[in-house]
Amino acid sequence: MGNEAEKPNIITSSLDFLVNWGRSNSLWPFPYGTACCAIEFMSTEVGRYDLSRIGSEYVRFTPRQSDVLLVAGTITYKQAPILKRIYEQMAEPRWVIAMGACASSGGFYDCYCTVPGIDHIIPVDVYIGGCPPRPEAFFDAMFDLQKKVKDESFMKQRAESVKEQLEMIKVK
Ligand code: SF4
Repeated sequence: MGNEAEKPNIITSSLDFLVNWGRSNSLWPFPYGTACCAIEFMSTEVGRYDLSRIGSEYVRFTPRQSDVLLVAGTITYKQAPILKRIYEQMAEPRWVIAMGACASSGGFYDCYCTVPGIDHIIPVDVYIGGCPPRPEAFFDAMFDLQKKVKDESFMKQRAESVKEQLEMIKVK
């Protein structure tokens, strides 16, 4: 019976479509820029590339108003706890993009102080190769992320969240 109720129907599918359409076209980035890749990200904002075409021009500098954590640059072990805290301060649903070789794998900074990829600290949804990646590559990543967001189920997320809250009440 429980499984039957969780099956998608025309109402839940339509609601998923509507919510995901809104979310995927208003992915506001939080730029966690530490090096040259961040400069390349800035160029996506200018008229030539125009990030507003996909509704992501509204760059936020507070994690609480952001949807996408954009890590652009080298991350050291000293910075790792700060990056993790910022990620945790973002409201769900939240997504992460690793922009460039440094954020994705540590790049050529193969040394004791550099994190060999931010996925050692936080989950990553999309990786962008390159040193630095061009704005076109950044747009490709945003298109991939939009596809991912459209495939998610708002109704399923809500159901899981309610279950989690009920579990917490039971524990108390
Ligand atoms: Fe700089 Fe290249 Fe690292 Fe990007 S990937 S932060 S351009 S060194």
